[in-house]
Amino acid sequence: MQNKITTVAFIGLGNMGGPMAINLHKAGYAVRAFDLSPDACDKVKSAGVPVSATALDAALGASVVISMLPASQHVEALYLGRAGEEGLLEKLSSGTLVIDSSTISASSAIKVAQVAATRGVQVIDAPVSGGTGGAIAGSLTFMVGAAAADLERARPLLEKMGQNIFHAGAVGAGQTAKICNNMLLGILMIGTSEALALGAANGLDPKVLSEIMRRSSGGNWALEKYNPMPGVMETAPASKGYAGGFGTDLMLKDLGLAQENATTVRAATPLGGLARSLYAAHSLAGHGALDFSSVIKLVQRKG
Ligand code: NAD
Repeated sequence: MQNKITTVAFIGLGNMGGPMAINLHKAGYAVRAFDLSPDACDKVKSAGVPVSATALDAALGASVVISMLPASQHVEALYLGRAGEEGLLEKLSSGTLVIDSSTISASSAIKVAQVAATRGVQVIDAPVSGGTGGAIAGSLTFMVGAAAADLERARPLLEKMGQNIFHAGAVGAGQTAKICNNMLLGILMIGTSEALALGAANGLDPKVLSEIMRRSSGGNWALEKYNPMPGVMETAPASKGYAGGFGTDLMLKDLGLAQENATTVRAATPLGGLARSLYAAHSLAGHGALDFSSVIKLVQRKG
């Protein structure tokens, strides 16, 4: 895949998709971007990325289509269509490669890939980890569900957006790996929040306590890279009013996917279930749009 000539349609330019599209553009790919939100379009436009009027305009004639959308229903609507509207798969040329990096259910990923296969279009699921910082820095981890040959086609593009690329298995396996990871992350963020709130209630300086735990057995990604206590880490969403980052409602969606899957395979995930309920309560309290680390508000002493 020659990066100077490959035309890539990039659909979904939010907190993650925007920086990912910009990185591909900077790497020399001919990116044509689209998002339903004019604000999201303006952000990539100001970085020099051409924006199309519709998803179809972006995708027609592209050899690769990448999507970074919120949830299963958005991905299914885009590719399979809804309410009498045709989906993109009806229009893509045979041989087009679709890379869906959204976090969705493995069953949706498989459904889209199966329909695509009947039209000669290959679909891979390539959800990511690494947060908005990783999307901007091009250091994401991709968890890929794909036939090996399709992953090799996608690899040069993925390498421009990420540092670690794992082949989890066949189509759908990337999504399964992703929900296992995010179930753990959701639990770790609540545990980290509880420990920091307990320390603060006892008068400990959260920065000092964070450093102590970072160098002790409580060290973990939520504490070290995404500290939920405002002021501890300048670059973390907690220090920016919990704006941007990874929305509480997106974490809630991922924990729901993990629970649905656990029900299907009869797995015991008691902490994952409790974490889902806690993020749901936090969302019901009006915090669904805030970064998920704001879940600390559930356990923090007021005033
Ligand atoms: P976001 O809400 O910031 O962005 C999603 C974008 O999709 C929005 O700009 C929205 O307007 C657009 N959109 C929705 N439907 C569309 C359509 N039909 N056509 C075009 N655009 C459409 O979400 P995000 O944080 O960028 O997350 C995207 C995906 O990545 C989610 O599945 C999320 O779970 C996953 N994810 C997010 C993070 C993170 O840290 N934010 C990390 C890893 C994975």
